[in-house]
Amino acid sequence: MTIIDRKPSRDGRRQAKAEVRGHAAHAPADRASAAPAHAAHAHDAGACAHAAERAREAPQALALADEICRERGVRLTDLRRSVLEALYDTHRPLGAYDLAEVLAGRTRKRIAPITIYRVLEFLTEQGFVHRLATKNAFVACPHAHAPGEMNVFLICEACGGVDEATSPQVAGAVGAVIAAHRFAPRGQVLEIEGLCAHCRPR
Ligand SMILES: [Zn+2]
Ligand SMILES: [Zn+2]
Ligand SMILES: [Zn+2]
Repeated sequence: MTIIDRKPSRDGRRQAKAEVRGHAAHAPADRASAAPAHAAHAHDAGACAHAAERAREAPQALALADEICRERGVRLTDLRRSVLEALYDTHRPLGAYDLAEVLAGRTRKRIAPITIYRVLEFLTEQGFVHRLATKNAFVACPHAHAPGEMNVFLICEACGGVDEATSPQVAGAVGAVIAAHRFAPRGQVLEIEGLCAHCRPR
């Protein structure tokens, strides 16, 4: 288990969740229609179901980020927005150096990784991105979690996709361990590496 910074969130905004919320491609209804495509595709960048979901989430998530920033009186500057957009443009976790490269390609301006780190810090604090400690990389998050909510990240070693889930059972069990040790966590994150549903051999 890895502890990362806790993300602030807005209470009213919290989405109703199924017991375990994975990415939509894993939902039974979706799986039926998506299965043939998965069997055929090579899971290259852009072809993966994780990538499709990211692209689907992006417009709404960016609009929500704008709205949340306005409400909190903080600024989603052009650079902050560009970094968030870059994270929604991929299904892979990106580090500060990766992001500097992506942005340099788009803007033809070199942005120092330290600047990107500050932007990522802001985006993490606002709950728009998560840092994966095992990768030292960041993924966008459209969920606007409640403060201190426990997240489970399933990180695929083949396609690079990251499925994010919440589970009251896991949160309850970890909460009991934390309470028993009278430990004050900054945040609760579980990172599990392996093969996603699309990449694992059938
Ligand atoms: Zn999240
Ligand atoms: Zn995968
Ligand atoms: Zn994938």
